[in-house]
Amino acid sequence: MSETTTAGLGTLCVHAGQEPDTRTGAVTVPIYPTSTYAQDALGSPRAGFEYARSKNPTRAALEALLAALEGGAAAHAFASGQAALASFAAAHLAAGDHVVVSRASYGGTFRYFTKVLAGFGVAFSWVDTTDLDAARAAVTPATRLLFVETPANPTMELSDLAALAAIAREATAQHGAKVRLAVDNTFATPFFQRPLALGADAVLHSTTKYLNGHSDSLGGAVVSATAEDGARIAFVQNAAGAILSPFDAFLVTRGVKTLALRMRAHDANGRAVAAFLAAHSKVARVLYPGLPSHPQHALASRQMSGFGGMLALDLGSYDAAKRFLDALRLFTLAESLGGVESLAGHPASMSHGSLAPEERAARGITDGLVRLSCGIEETEDLVADVERGLGEV
Ligand SMILES: *Cc1c(COP(=O)(O)O)cnc(C)c1O
Repeated sequence: MSETTTAGLGTLCVHAGQEPDTRTGAVTVPIYPTSTYAQDALGSPRAGFEYARSKNPTRAALEALLAALEGGAAAHAFASGQAALASFAAAHLAAGDHVVVSRASYGGTFRYFTKVLAGFGVAFSWVDTTDLDAARAAVTPATRLLFVETPANPTMELSDLAALAAIAREATAQHGAKVRLAVDNTFATPFFQRPLALGADAVLHSTTKYLNGHSDSLGGAVVSATAEDGARIAFVQNAAGAILSPFDAFLVTRGVKTLALRMRAHDANGRAVAAFLAAHSKVARVLYPGLPSHPQHALASRQMSGFGGMLALDLGSYDAAKRFLDALRLFTLAESLGGVESLAGHPASMSHGSLAPEERAARGITDGLVRLSCGIEETEDLVADVERGLGEV
């Protein structure tokens, strides 16, 4: 892999961790559907593989690929994004710890933290992490983790990763215990944003979304900046066992090979649809980091190398959102995002339905908010579809 580590992202997507099979020369890493491995002698597993929960060659190839893309020391693949989050928490948090978490986060993150981890004695402060003073003020001597999603789901708010990494370092020095910065990089992907290079300690993914990219697999990953943190995640991955299956590891690896091509297409479509909506009289608000009107457009331009295919628009009321969504033909009304096909959703009743109305209001998730995941179809077809939707509003 040494020759690929300085290569561009699009090259790493194809080659990192993907050496031809040593036994057969197979160019594509095979799917190894084996639960166990023959040992040559007592205490001598043949190639470091013993039992598939601990290590599987198909999964290991994907993990090497993801570590290379994010610039981490190690990556570990899990059965879903939520399994990655739960395993990350089990590896790095304990009762009595406090977490500063961006209030704009995936609804499942909110549910897991408030309804599961809180019961194990971990405390959370839900903070507007676009405001660095608020983030700094929320840190206590018990804080062990800053957890942010940027761009965030569904309001497309950004958090300044380099500045938050500095806050985590200051807190580590002040409190004499490691305070990590972990970033959910699902929306941007390493193609457009590399949090570890900006000082983060870990990156989390729902590979279900852009990394797999074809809406046919559920998975998650944790990428650790250091080998020590990677070893803790590996320990929990084996101990708790929420691993990604060999078949899904194959699918995600195959998806990642075209990540660069897909992200460029998602980005071009996101920009075009956002610009069309922003100029339309029936749209109250368009939330897309690539628009100059986005409150953090300057940060987006600095921190990301593209803006991607996710955007949200506010149509002012539930009824208007419903009329728009029901009229779309190319954008499919569905949960999830990041696939080649365009999807549309209503965060207040779908992805963020687990939040109480006042919690949604505090996050700007109004009843008129619609989330669009722009796929890789022809740009003019997507623009025509949202135009058709607005015709019914
Ligand atoms: C979907 C998603 C998750 C959860 O991932 P699953 O694979 O559905 O478990 C976490 N974070 C973000 C930003 C997501 O979009």
